[in-house]
Amino acid sequence: MRAFLSALFLASVSFASAQSRVDDLLSKMTLEEKIGQMTQVTLDVVLRPGVHIDTAKLKQALETYHVGSILNTAGHALSRDQWKELITDIQKEATGHTRLHIPVIYGIDAIHGVNYVLGATLFPQEIGQAATFNPELVRKAADITAYETRAAYIPWNFSPVLDLGKSPLWPRMYETYGEDPYLCKTMGAEAVKGYQGSVSGAIDKYHVAACMKHYLGYSYPLSGKDRTPAWIPDRYMREYFLPSFREAVKAGARTVMVNSSQINGVPVHASHYLLTDVLRGELGFDGVIVTDWQDIKYLHDRHHIAATQEDAVLMAINAGIDMSMVPYDFSFYTYLLDLVKTGKVSVARIDASVRRILRLKEELGLFALPVPHTEDYPDFGSEASRQVSLQAAEESITLLKNNNAALPLKTGARILVTGPTANTLRSVDGGWSYSWQGDVNDALGAGHATFLDALRKKLGSDHVVYADSLSDALSAAAGVDAIVLFLGESSYAENPGNIDDLDLPFEQLHLAAELAKTGKPVILVLAEGRPRIVTSADAVAAATLTVYYPGNEGGEALADILTGDVNPSGKLPFTYPRYANALVNYYRKFLENGNPDDQHGFHPLYEFGSGLSYTTFTYSHLRLSSPVLSGNGSLQVSVDVQNTGQREGKESVLLYTSQWYASISPDVKRLRAFRKIDLQPGETKTVTFALTPSDLAFIGDDNKPVTEPGQFTIRIGDQTVDFTYQSSRSAKPSEGRL
Ligand code: BGC
Repeated sequence: MRAFLSALFLASVSFASAQSRVDDLLSKMTLEEKIGQMTQVTLDVVLRPGVHIDTAKLKQALETYHVGSILNTAGHALSRDQWKELITDIQKEATGHTRLHIPVIYGIDAIHGVNYVLGATLFPQEIGQAATFNPELVRKAADITAYETRAAYIPWNFSPVLDLGKSPLWPRMYETYGEDPYLCKTMGAEAVKGYQGSVSGAIDKYHVAACMKHYLGYSYPLSGKDRTPAWIPDRYMREYFLPSFREAVKAGARTVMVNSSQINGVPVHASHYLLTDVLRGELGFDGVIVTDWQDIKYLHDRHHIAATQEDAVLMAINAGIDMSMVPYDFSFYTYLLDLVKTGKVSVARIDASVRRILRLKEELGLFALPVPHTEDYPDFGSEASRQVSLQAAEESITLLKNNNAALPLKTGARILVTGPTANTLRSVDGGWSYSWQGDVNDALGAGHATFLDALRKKLGSDHVVYADSLSDALSAAAGVDAIVLFLGESSYAENPGNIDDLDLPFEQLHLAAELAKTGKPVILVLAEGRPRIVTSADAVAAATLTVYYPGNEGGEALADILTGDVNPSGKLPFTYPRYANALVNYYRKFLENGNPDDQHGFHPLYEFGSGLSYTTFTYSHLRLSSPVLSGNGSLQVSVDVQNTGQREGKESVLLYTSQWYASISPDVKRLRAFRKIDLQPGETKTVTFALTPSDLAFIGDDNKPVTEPGQFTIRIGDQTVDFTYQSSRSAKPSEGRL
């Protein structure tokens, strides 16, 4: 008890001292210094021997404009030593040559591992991490990423992406946890916990501040093109897009980045409703709101809601932003200063933002230790971290089709490897991995295997023939037992990833068709950031797998799965469309209830949650603790899952509910819970979930969560069971679960 009380005392003392440092600084700061804290810029680096920031610009930023934050100076991967020089230059200037010695908070996009640091552990992109259906693994990956980010002297990570990956047209789908709100919020919250290591208070030197992005509705532009307008009714926003942010706020996310685009004609950077009423008011978020790249300026010259750039700044400040990712000049600073001096923005408003920014710096320990000690991070890029990445890649890879047990490959099989994604690390790692989205930075990928490299290593070079042209592939096919065909996409992000046609390019589909004519079994491997239309290639393939962008260990993971050393267990975190004009998420609405042939556009190639194993699982005895769920009670849902095959396997057990009738047309089904289990051959496990009324809630016509009484069906595997939800009144459970 005494230890507890003294810990409590120490915690409150340190809270008080943190608080008083922030108050003390605020009381001493000039208006200029305060506005500087709200300004985030990028600066050029000078590549001398070593790497240095452009000193003249750095001095200008920190001494003249009192800038509080810097981002993305490097643009490509640097060594830890180079990062140390860079961050040391910045912090020396900030803490040594400014009046109040306030350290800079440096931010970067370490979105699947610290992709700007040589030797770092790169994990599967978020879409692959979602396919693992293993939240613990997502948390571990984030924890390692945080450690390695700090080991590169950087305390703020612009991750995780919490946007819902609903549209394969959108070029950032691979950065998301997929199309399902429950999966997205579960994985997103784990990532936040892994990054930050604490829900509130101090973030230790092995963790970083997370940044939820991009709030809100960014992922569903009408045109599919990045940063273009979306039309999302408020009810849908709350039903599908908001839950991942709500959950991440509950997990303690310290910062958030705003959607660059506009919803229903209102740019989010100017939306008081979304930024202040909903995010701060309803979700209770009290952290730092940072804009995205140049987005205040764009209120003027892209969205045309502000006649001048000064008006744009006023709008964003009134909407609720704390920090502007300007990032190239000091215009934001100049306009905001003017707005305060002319009385259009109050000092109290500025203080509120600056207080949040200083508190974040304090929580991250930047005042005490602006540049961490190199020797505190002996596990940077360690073998143990690599193993976690390998496990994540293995658990993400999703086997969609396996006719006549084409996989695993027979021992001693000779294979032909071909296709545009077979021998490039760009398709292993995807975007945000190399010099921005462009060319492969060999140094970052050094030592890591392409799919071809990994297969050669695994099977022996004499068992792998590689062909990089159609004619070579056709002539080589005669001498092999199977063809492993790699199709898909190279790396891209944001605008460069925009496409006008979801079909995989003709040449790729043609390659599949021609290879199939050889009569050799075609194992189709899709390395891609979003589900491109591959229907004709899939039709001629004996087996189809998707690897998403599996990260640096993806080659090895795939080789282990193709040979059967590892049993696949990934499941699709999105609906794989069959046709480019039929992009319908699995949780579509009931239409023509009762007519299974009437799909109303829903005729996917593979459903959300699809994914095979080399063993078989049988579900039985789906049962409930009661046929009736009452009031605010809870229902125990149990199902037995047996491994009925010959080898150990992992299975993700997904629980869906369907409401029969509701005041808003109910979704066909919604994922409400899942659990990944491991089963030995012959073993049976009982999986039990608890369902409460708030798990069944939807957003009603009044934009509020409601659980309406009535009949429900629960679906797990091929099992179904019905129950009734009874309530004396139309219950409005807390918005907690949505
Ligand atoms: C992206 C953000 C990213 C930011 C900083 C923007 O272009 O939309 O996701 O965090 O750049 O790199």
